[in-house]
Amino acid sequence: MELSENIRNAIERLAEENDSFYLYDEQGIIDRAELLKSNFPDVDFIYSAKCNPDGRIVRALVSQGLGIDAASVQECLLANECKVDRDDVFYSAPGKTEKNIRESFRIATPIADSIGELERFNQYVEKHTGLYKAFAGIRINPDFGFGADSGVPSKFGIDEEEVFRIIRERSFDHIYINGIHVHVKSQVLSAELMLEYYERVLELAERVENELGHQLKYINMGSGLGIPYTTDTAPIDIEWLGKQVGERVANFKESHPDTRLIIETGRFVVCPNGYYVTHVADRKTSHGKTYIILQNTLNGFLRPSIARLVEKYANLSGWDGRGTLAGTEPLYSGSGAPEILTLAEDNSECETVTLVGNLCTGADVVAEGIELPKLSIGDVVILPNAGAYGAVLSPMQFASMERPIELILNA
Ligand SMILES: *Cc1c(COP(=O)(O)O)cnc(C)c1O
Repeated sequence: MELSENIRNAIERLAEENDSFYLYDEQGIIDRAELLKSNFPDVDFIYSAKCNPDGRIVRALVSQGLGIDAASVQECLLANECKVDRDDVFYSAPGKTEKNIRESFRIATPIADSIGELERFNQYVEKHTGLYKAFAGIRINPDFGFGADSGVPSKFGIDEEEVFRIIRERSFDHIYINGIHVHVKSQVLSAELMLEYYERVLELAERVENELGHQLKYINMGSGLGIPYTTDTAPIDIEWLGKQVGERVANFKESHPDTRLIIETGRFVVCPNGYYVTHVADRKTSHGKTYIILQNTLNGFLRPSIARLVEKYANLSGWDGRGTLAGTEPLYSGSGAPEILTLAEDNSECETVTLVGNLCTGADVVAEGIELPKLSIGDVVILPNAGAYGAVLSPMQFASMERPIELILNA
């Protein structure tokens, strides 16, 4: 990828004063949100704050009209601080404690992730709200997957079959189920598969409505929208997908004028608009191998080191042979070398190096045997696609080094 003039200048300037840092591009983030909104006019987007809960980013996206997909009470509170209406904050996560339920109910739309949780919602409403019934959604573990006609065991959501059983048995007197949430996979790059998935979610929603005897207020279709992490990966065709989804949604809305269709998005808007910037601390040769030692890699931006570890051991159980390892998201997002950029001129002399970090562990490796422009001590190295699952995933306390800071280039 090519850095824009604007980003390159900002990195050059900021790298003079900072050792290791994240740089987020606010305008780029706004543009990606706009890209989604303009291609899916009848869909409401909500931002999955767990991918990057930086308040400046959350505020930028809220100001674009996005609601919040909260993975914890803390993210509900963050949304609340950003003045997001509770109807636009969807709290969906497994294992909510009673404290989480109590703290979130008034500021978010709670989504039950298991039958036990639905029971706890029910008890909470009965004992603590003074209401006879309160609204809540349920997360469903559907009997389908991406390109698959059957369901799989999951810690997320209530199995589809169980959903129909509990509705039939009407076990929860104090909960009015007003919405559903379905999310089964992240980082999908096939627009066809996304479309088929959305169609199946809408079809499932109608069956749930039939069993409930009322229409849903919202159908949260989850995320899935992926991004290319490597130069040889094609981006998902958002224009085509938006058009196809638009037709299905128009149809659906005819019989469901009051139902909101929601799509969650985290990495799609933020990931390509974040850069991790660090410096060369040392270089050395050992047994004929050239090492470039960077500052704060595994403990500043974990993903490249994890990717290498996962791939090194990918012949162990769990590898599906198609470049994905089920269940490793967002720690591991797919095969292929991560992109590594420098500020060197295009015609610089290159060399083959192993790029490592300055931690006292052999696992701190960014890339092995890659071709890079010849780097000297103090040179800048940039890892793109660091906007999502970057700072939040990285073990910055490890080895007590100075933490990378997070900077934003304002729009
Ligand atoms: C993490 C997560 C997301 C965000 O996924 P992205 O790939 O970053 O868009 C959305 N929904 C749920 C339920 C999640 O757990």
